[in-house]
Amino acid sequence: MKGLVTKAVGGFFFVADEQQNIIRTRIRGKVKRKVYPGDFVKVNDAMIEKLYPRTNLLFRPAVANVDQVLVIHSIQNPPFARKMLDKFLIMVEAIGVKPVIIINKIDLKVPDIELEKEMKDYKEEGYQVYLISVKEKMGLNELYLTLEEKLSVLAGPSGVGKSSLIKALVPEARVKIGEVSQKLKRGVHTTRHVELLPINKGGWIADTPGFSALDLRGILSENLRFYFPGLARYEGQCKFRGCTHTHEPGCQVKKAVKEGMISEKRYNSYLNIYRDLEEREC
Ligand code: GDP
Ligand code: ZN
Repeated sequence: MKGLVTKAVGGFFFVADEQQNIIRTRIRGKVKRKVYPGDFVKVNDAMIEKLYPRTNLLFRPAVANVDQVLVIHSIQNPPFARKMLDKFLIMVEAIGVKPVIIINKIDLKVPDIELEKEMKDYKEEGYQVYLISVKEKMGLNELYLTLEEKLSVLAGPSGVGKSSLIKALVPEARVKIGEVSQKLKRGVHTTRHVELLPINKGGWIADTPGFSALDLRGILSENLRFYFPGLARYEGQCKFRGCTHTHEPGCQVKKAVKEGMISEKRYNSYLNIYRDLEEREC
């Protein structure tokens, strides 16, 4: 059988079949590479015999074959912050995985933020955006459609509702197991093992969120433009090769911003973060 590794702990590998039934397996010595949650493997007699090629491998959490990262923020508690959202998007873009934007806590009425308007430029740039309330179960049915058949990892600042969302998506019995083991492990300082949890309408979600450090480590100012899809579209069209779209003459991106083809807010965010990165590099 071909299965999906959901957890690797103490030499055991938990492998799910298509029906999301999970069996405990071990691995044959001939499989030389390390096996991670998210890996597809061939299993025979509760032994992993083969590791299939992977499309990607994330670190922290260590998960293979990630289809998308759900970048979650809230409109209030903590308040919505564009720069923070943009930084998360950059980190996900930089590793080449698709980000999906989720804005939670829409049950909280916030007069001075018009959410639909605020999200418009992200949608125009090609991002999927979901406005939800985990608490009031709003917008979750639409979200399920995008999770089906996929492996998703959550990312976002603390307090926005990541654990609440996992609890809402995963059948109750499965979450409890995760919670208990997490507490025990915290007590004895052992490493935290990532576990993939089955979403009750199909698909998998990692129980550990990623990308918590927001210093954009490893990202160079000269590459930043590739991580804004709206800007990346214009690559090669400016007068100068390698144009950073900041100060160069004959810049098509700047022209597009003036003509309203690129969101001014997103472009300003690019400039802002570009300067931050540049400062760090000096
Ligand atoms: P995490 O740090 O991202 O995992 O956030 P949690 O899931 O722990 O949630 C932080 C707080 O926000 C908790 O008190 C939740 O009850 C609350 N919360 C989560 N989702 C919602 C929501 O949709 N609406 C409101 N009003 N509160 C929520
Ligand atoms: Zn340019």
